[in-house]
Amino acid sequence: MLLSELHRSSKLVISFELFPPKTPEGEVRLFERAIPEMLKLRPAFLTCTYGAGGTTHEKTMEILSRIRREFPIDAASHLTCLGGSREAIREYLMEARANGINNIVALRGDPPKGVADFRPPADGFRLARDLVAFIKEIGGFDVAVAGYPEGHPECPDKYLDWQRLAAKVEAGADAIITQLFYDNRDFFEFRDYLRGKLGVKVPIVAGVLPILSTHQIKRFCGLCGAKLPPGVLDRLDAYADDDEAARQYGVELATRMCEELIRGGVDGIHFYTLNRSESTGMVLRNLALA
Ligand SMILES: Cc1cc2nc3c(=O)[nH]c(=O)nc-3n(C[C@H](O)[C@H](O)[C@H](O)COP(=O)(O)OP(=O)(O)OC[C@H]3O[C@@H](n4cnc5c(N)ncnc54)[C@H](O)[C@@H]3O)c2cc1C
Repeated sequence: MLLSELHRSSKLVISFELFPPKTPEGEVRLFERAIPEMLKLRPAFLTCTYGAGGTTHEKTMEILSRIRREFPIDAASHLTCLGGSREAIREYLMEARANGINNIVALRGDPPKGVADFRPPADGFRLARDLVAFIKEIGGFDVAVAGYPEGHPECPDKYLDWQRLAAKVEAGADAIITQLFYDNRDFFEFRDYLRGKLGVKVPIVAGVLPILSTHQIKRFCGLCGAKLPPGVLDRLDAYADDDEAARQYGVELATRMCEELIRGGVDGIHFYTLNRSESTGMVLRNLALA
């Protein structure tokens, strides 16, 4: 099903994000344990990330095609544009279509680290907005784009970033999936601005990462520019050397956040699962949604 159809048929669309495992053992774990466990939670679809610059190009397609062949579930491919030529992107889309993947999470990606004078291919795309327009021109795909409740870290002003997000919707995006955040007030302000001030009508899906460890979440937030509110930080610091306690707190926090998001009428929740089903499963069971 296309993303827009999934949102039309359900008030709350739940999806799970995976990444391509780095080792054959990781892939075995993903297909033999994690995905079967995830499917018991009845998500609407799974997505798989795509390495910036196309570094996981083949692996992402392989994982998603296998999911489509082996499990009764819809799948969406992330696709970044910074490293790919227009022709390479077109080929990827044709391959996705041939494998039954009709939903794309269209992203810019980030320039490779340490390459100061990085230039995207001359015949490629510099911004996610242009990738969205290209995919829509090809036709037959629904497209989700990334949104940032705290503003994208490169953009000096979050309202300007949200206006640029609205431009991605104008270019044809069918849904927005947000970056992770840990203060729901950021999400609600973002959503209200998009709906009220910018007239954005497409579904706005909250990206939720149930915390797995203090060190890991601090690193992730540092990388993507999301903040950890002081109350959350205090609890996490208390569990700095106890991943299991941090994980349990992560479930409790994500449950509370999701309850409030659902009460606030969120269109969907996209769980960043990090290829693990346990925490997401506990959150969904707490919410009586599994
Ligand atoms: C749900 C989700 C999934 C993700 N999946 C992946 C993944 O699979 N692989 C991966 O590598 N990364 C992924 N990312 C990270 C993403 O690639 C980075 O956050 C990246 O820095 C920005 O991508 P974007 O698509 O939001 O870019 P864009 O929307 O193109 O925005 C990038 C920057 O350009 C600015 N901008 C936009 N329009 C203009 C304009 N007209 N003029 C000047 N500046 C402008 C924006 O304000 C922003 O600062 C994901 C992020 C999210 C939220």
